[in-house]
Amino acid sequence: MDQSQLRALEARCIQEEMPFCTASCPIHVDARGLMALLTRGELREARKILDRTMPFPEILGRICDQPCHPFCKRGEIGDPLWIGPLERYCVSVTDTVLKPPKLPVKGGAVAVLGAGFSGMTAALDLSRKGRPATLITARTRLGGSLPDRAGSLLPPEVFDQAEATLKRYGAEIVTGASLDRQTVAALLDKYDVLYFDWDDFTIDHLPFIPGTPDPISLALERDGCFGGGGVEDGKPFSIMHQAENGRRAALSMERYLQGVSLTAEREKEGACPTRMYTVTEGIPPASEIVPDNPIAGYTAEEAQREAARCIYCECLECVKKCAYLQEYKEYPKTLVRKIYNNLSIVQGNRSANKLTNSCSLCWQCTVICPYDFPVASACHAARQEMVASGHMPPSAHSFALEEMHYTLGENCALIRHQPGTTASRYLFFPGCQLTGTYPDTVERTYIFLTQHLEEGVGLFLSCCGAPADWAGQSALFTDVLADLTAQIRQMGNPTLIVACSSCLAAFGKYAPELTVVSLWEMLDELPLPEVLFDLPESPLTVHDPCTARYQEGVRASVRSICGKIGLPVAETTIGAELADCCGYGGLLQFANQPLGEKVATLKVSRSTTETGLVYCAMCRENLVGTETHIAHLLDYLFADPEKNPLVRAKVGLSGRHEHRSRLKSRLQSTLWQDPIGSPAPHRAIRLEADDETWALLNERLILMEDIQKVIHHAETTGRYLHNPANGRRLAAFKPAVVTYWAEYEPISDGYFLHRGYSHRMQLPEDRA
Ligand code: SF4
Ligand code: SF4
Ligand code: SF4
Repeated sequence: MDQSQLRALEARCIQEEMPFCTASCPIHVDARGLMALLTRGELREARKILDRTMPFPEILGRICDQPCHPFCKRGEIGDPLWIGPLERYCVSVTDTVLKPPKLPVKGGAVAVLGAGFSGMTAALDLSRKGRPATLITARTRLGGSLPDRAGSLLPPEVFDQAEATLKRYGAEIVTGASLDRQTVAALLDKYDVLYFDWDDFTIDHLPFIPGTPDPISLALERDGCFGGGGVEDGKPFSIMHQAENGRRAALSMERYLQGVSLTAEREKEGACPTRMYTVTEGIPPASEIVPDNPIAGYTAEEAQREAARCIYCECLECVKKCAYLQEYKEYPKTLVRKIYNNLSIVQGNRSANKLTNSCSLCWQCTVICPYDFPVASACHAARQEMVASGHMPPSAHSFALEEMHYTLGENCALIRHQPGTTASRYLFFPGCQLTGTYPDTVERTYIFLTQHLEEGVGLFLSCCGAPADWAGQSALFTDVLADLTAQIRQMGNPTLIVACSSCLAAFGKYAPELTVVSLWEMLDELPLPEVLFDLPESPLTVHDPCTARYQEGVRASVRSICGKIGLPVAETTIGAELADCCGYGGLLQFANQPLGEKVATLKVSRSTTETGLVYCAMCRENLVGTETHIAHLLDYLFADPEKNPLVRAKVGLSGRHEHRSRLKSRLQSTLWQDPIGSPAPHRAIRLEADDETWALLNERLILMEDIQKVIHHAETTGRYLHNPANGRRLAAFKPAVVTYWAEYEPISDGYFLHRGYSHRMQLPEDRA
């Protein structure tokens, strides 16, 4: 990811866009922040917000005509907020807190003719920027028409305060001036740049034709002259219009003195549109709090209640649903910046690597986001980049990749035509996880397909390579896929019947030349087997795998099959298209196991009934760990009738590992009558352990076979430590990269395992 790609990505997340009130406020007061502080009664901090943005808050804060009001999102669910009266309350009970710094004095002679509110604002802004202005009025006081218009809303002392402020920033104030054509002509000669405030200066006194002011810069036809303020055609007098014009003119005059463009990049000045996206559904409506005494305005208690109606407009729609973004307290814009920093600057910080590897690549956020923010592709591309540059820690995905290699290897992989045939019209591809989890069901499903489809159904036990893709191992994934497609070609390019949604997605995206159909769509076309169970009467909530998000046909077939067999089902609270990941996607559970568990728990929490139904083996493995009764749909069609689909136990890593190789040898011997060689000697070791130890092995990604290898090595070489006090033996063995340790003791027909753990350190003997 380079800087420009980062910027393009960041721009798609609008979480930092202005809320509706701020965007529609011509001077962009942070009304959302103000409401939060007023709700908490933090008046001093609230006043700082006004001091920071408003010219003369003691005036504007009392009488703003609130152009923001119609844009307040609260209006969709109750009455819009009245921000003006809350600002009035704030400035009435606080004094100025923040005094913006005075910048060093720069050159340029600046005059403002007319001391209405726009002239005062222009003079203040310019003086603060280090261009002390001379503010000239024919009246004896500041404010132009304002004191007459505002009446009792503005105590007279606010104009004294305003005068003091202007003087503090170095402005010179001239009152009672004669402003006829002659004196103005002299002022035009004297000053480099001038602003005419139409509220306090008569256009007839100009010694030149002003023309129509440029709407962006307020520049008049005469060079160095700007004009604004007054009353807009057909509109009532607006103090906010005065403030906005004064501020706009001050910036133009500053640019004029700097000799830069008067109009470039000023789109966000004044009231402007915002891309902010805020969903108000689910927020309780609330009516406006009307002050008991409208003339006095809000009391403290009333102000707090009115401010508390603010809904703090923001987006975060993706974060509301995604456990990963919640865990890391990020939203996509901040997330991709961290990922970018890790790739480009830090290059491999441990926690940043984990951040990149903890996204399940499920694309839920993209579906939710009004601007289709693609977090999954950003995280995936970052993993590929980390692998390519050697910054991906091997431990993040090594277990999953080793399991993938094991599944692709001679112990587990099998590709054969239907027994007794030499050609295949179809090739059943159950996928590595279904094979590992439910080998019996795979066998029954395969036999069913051979009985109901003509012209031969071959069997392909393998892995689609998705783990390599998710790990960012592009070269490895390409090799795996090339090998798979070559094998399929050798079988005569049969139609692949794929059980797993991840395999379906991987083949669809990366091997479009293959003809692939989902097992579910195929089953939906066939006469279904008789269901041998008492079907539950209460509906099961269907938990679609996240990879089925873009597989509408698969989702429809699953529901159709349920209808045909009479299995009552219900939908989740968020619906199929937003289905969460179960924790396996993107290898999340290997990179961040605790988060994987939270993700599974979140998925289950979307249930609308007591029991659930899945059609992905890994979904069942992970969701069943949340202690909810979850069945796999294939179980209702093909499982052993003795086993209630809703109470089958989690299989675990070791079980899945074991099942894959056992299924291959069993099918070879039962279906194809192949001679089967003897298993490796360590596999004959019988191992016992208590449940806690098995659970710990699972958590530490240690397979039973790893422990069998340790014990076999120890017992055949005699290399173990013996503890005479308890009869236990301690041994280590490093079959490849990882060293496994086992503390065990012999029992009558095998060994009892007390402890197993692993690490990547090297023992001196490993180096030898
Ligand atoms: S949904 Fe998420 S990514 Fe999209 S704009 Fe909102 S916060 Fe940003
Ligand atoms: S009340 Fe006025 S100053 Fe306050 S946010 Fe609204 S438009 Fe801006
Ligand atoms: S886990 Fe899914 S929803 Fe969350 S950021 Fe990653 S792709 Fe988006």
